[in-house]
Amino acid sequence: MLPLLIKARLMGMGMAGWTAAAAPVPMPADTVSLVYTARAATPVPVPLFDENLRVQATVEIDHLGNSDAATTKKIRHLFRCRVTNRERPIARKSLLMLKDVAEMYEGKTIEFVSVYRVQRGESLTSPHRDGRAIDFRIRGEQLRTIRDYLWRKYTEVGIGWYPSEQFIHMDTRPTLHDTSWTFVNGANRYNPYWAELARRPAQPVTQARRPGA
Ligand SMILES: [Zn+2]
Repeated sequence: MLPLLIKARLMGMGMAGWTAAAAPVPMPADTVSLVYTARAATPVPVPLFDENLRVQATVEIDHLGNSDAATTKKIRHLFRCRVTNRERPIARKSLLMLKDVAEMYEGKTIEFVSVYRVQRGESLTSPHRDGRAIDFRIRGEQLRTIRDYLWRKYTEVGIGWYPSEQFIHMDTRPTLHDTSWTFVNGANRYNPYWAELARRPAQPVTQARRPGA
């Protein structure tokens, strides 16, 4: 939630959707930064759908991946282990990435396939066991685009693409190397070409030289 003071000032000035660029007169710098701070601190609604239990819920996550106490509890419950029903906190950065995707695809629902997994057989090093991984999709959107966006923007992450199963695995792995893979025919293929392409720096636009110039 916004601090009351900022909220009151925003409402009083009627400028919640106001930007400096659109202003007819220059705004005092502190007011501009106040508006931006307020906007950045506003939690983003993240519409979720549990594809296994067919449950819909919206949670609000802020620009740091945090949420209020009630929401944090709700997230733990939504993302609980489906086999054991156990819950655990979900990594803040993973939630930040989820919020980021929700922001990119405003109004769309993020369908989650699997988050916390602690059942027997789940690898001891699995980021799902640690509450750091989220498997998801957005119906009607290209998984490739979401995959490339996340891989380009974040480091210390794992991004897996499951084209047959139609979902993306994303996890955060602090201090560990980035890992990318495509799951094909029952196995992970690491360092796929899409990952190389997504992180390739954009080619500078060069002007063609005129003959004799
Ligand atoms: Zn996964």
